[in-house]
Amino acid sequence: MLRLPKFEVAAPQTVDEALALLAEYGADAMLMAGGTDLVPNMKHGLFEPKLVVSVSAIDELQGVAIEDDGTLVIGAATTLQAVATNDEVRRRAPAFAQAAGLVAGPQLRRMGTVGGNVMLDTRCQWYNQTHFWRKSLGFCLKKDGSLCHVVEGGSKCVAAASNDTAPTLMSLGAKLVFARRNSEGQVVRKTLAVDDLYKSDGAFNKKVAGDELLIAVRIPAGAPQHRGAYGKLRDRGSIDFPLLGVAVRIDLDDAGAVADADLVAVALQARPIRLKKAAEALVGNTPGKPGWDEAVDAAAEAAYGQCHPMPNIPGDHDYRREMVPVYVRRTIRAAVAGEGPVHHV
Ligand SMILES: Cc1cc2nc3c(=O)[nH]c(=O)nc-3n(C[C@H](O)[C@H](O)[C@H](O)COP(=O)(O)OP(=O)(O)OC[C@H]3O[C@@H](n4cnc5c(N)ncnc54)[C@H](O)[C@@H]3O)c2cc1C
Ligand code: SF4
Repeated sequence: MLRLPKFEVAAPQTVDEALALLAEYGADAMLMAGGTDLVPNMKHGLFEPKLVVSVSAIDELQGVAIEDDGTLVIGAATTLQAVATNDEVRRRAPAFAQAAGLVAGPQLRRMGTVGGNVMLDTRCQWYNQTHFWRKSLGFCLKKDGSLCHVVEGGSKCVAAASNDTAPTLMSLGAKLVFARRNSEGQVVRKTLAVDDLYKSDGAFNKKVAGDELLIAVRIPAGAPQHRGAYGKLRDRGSIDFPLLGVAVRIDLDDAGAVADADLVAVALQARPIRLKKAAEALVGNTPGKPGWDEAVDAAAEAAYGQCHPMPNIPGDHDYRREMVPVYVRRTIRAAVAGEGPVHHV
């Protein structure tokens, strides 16, 4: 049986109280929302906080709101289940709602939150293991060791971003509101594009510090003819992390042609990657009209050229690569048809 180490829990009721605790405890504190990733990681000895700061009781972090200009504002502690089943989220940001609805399984979606998903640790088959297992192997760069088992001689961790909602939020141009205490003790807030949150370092793939609290996700109003879908490859349709995730956004013009598009893939590298050439292949073409099938094929081919899965997460990496064009094609078609998500059960 895997046991939790000893630690203390605080349950602040306000953002200010939470930030005060983070400032006081520094690196000894970690935030917890649903705890669906943090707690297993603590059992595996991957995270060792002395104080766990639960954000569940902070009202400001809860719920979905729509501003006058159509911006969707989602509190960081809103559950994945709540956004996946919210009619406004499903209508305005279908790819995001679909991705939230495919995270893990039903119980985990009822506990797991949007903020916890955005801030999820990277994953690797040599890292997400018990302490005993990792010790037998000699640990690795990401925790307690000095070498990488994925890239021989590698000096940088290449664990995979495995959060399903991240690529959809990137494709939607979403922004994140963070709060922290500055050195004078004042609470300061900043807004960061999701695009600018992630970096290519699997050891810690975010450009924010541990004392920064994610308050909300802001998704701007989509184009009038917005289409979106999420495609997810995984072993078991009922629960697993992605072996590959593909987010598609397509904006049609009045004539039905693709005016703008964005495709972002996850579960390949330490950060989600934008499939720029794939998106460009679609622009100017009209779904259902001559040339569309060729445009979709060109997008799939471009994605295949850009995506090079590594043996960082379970699943044969050559198979995962062969599935890239398959999921790109299917997810584009689902987006255009107003369908999705694309997955197997
Ligand atoms: C069996 C299993 C299957 C899973 N499958 C998937 C899957 O398919 N796809 C997927 O994406 N995930 C999956 N997960 C991981 C996890 O359930 C989800 O990612 C979930 O969204 C995490 O949210 P949480 O609220 O539980 O986060 P927590 O576990 O509470 O926290 C996760 C991380 O986010 C930080 N954090 C939480 N809230 C904030 C905040 N407001 N501000 C700053 N930092 C914060 C925490 O400090 C921690 O580092 C799976 C987990 C399990 C156990
Ligand atoms: S890629 Fe995996 S094995 Fe390599 S350092 Fe990162 S977690 Fe460790």
